[in-house]
Amino acid sequence: MQPSDHNKHNKHNKHQAVALDRWAIILSGICLLHCLALPFAVLLGPVLGQWLLDTETNAHWLLLAMALPLSFWALGRGYKSHKSLLTLTLGSVGLLLMFLGVSHLVGEAFEVPFTVIGVCAVMFAHIRNTLATLRQH
Ligand SMILES: [Zn+2]
Repeated sequence: MQPSDHNKHNKHNKHQAVALDRWAIILSGICLLHCLALPFAVLLGPVLGQWLLDTETNAHWLLLAMALPLSFWALGRGYKSHKSLLTLTLGSVGLLLMFLGVSHLVGEAFEVPFTVIGVCAVMFAHIRNTLATLRQH
């Protein structure tokens, strides 16, 4: 490979890595908004409010199903290139908390708090991952 080709290749990889993390952050943001809107569900009126409460758990399974492959992929390749154990741990603990919350293994009352904390951890892991990628030459 010519040096210029090599640079182009690196740049492409970097863009792809940042895009992956960005999707994970957007996904986490949607879930946070959704969870934080729940206490105000009553204010949305009986129809919309009830719909939000009824779709709560399904929405979290769906988010987890999307977050799992995305986070493993993005944080996995991030770990390979910048070896931050903290980022990887944060992401894994976050996903685990999301799973504990949505599966109701520890009780339905913990779904929202566990999900919110888990999602924040996952989001923070992806922000760290993005910063590490951008810092790379
Ligand atoms: Zn949520």
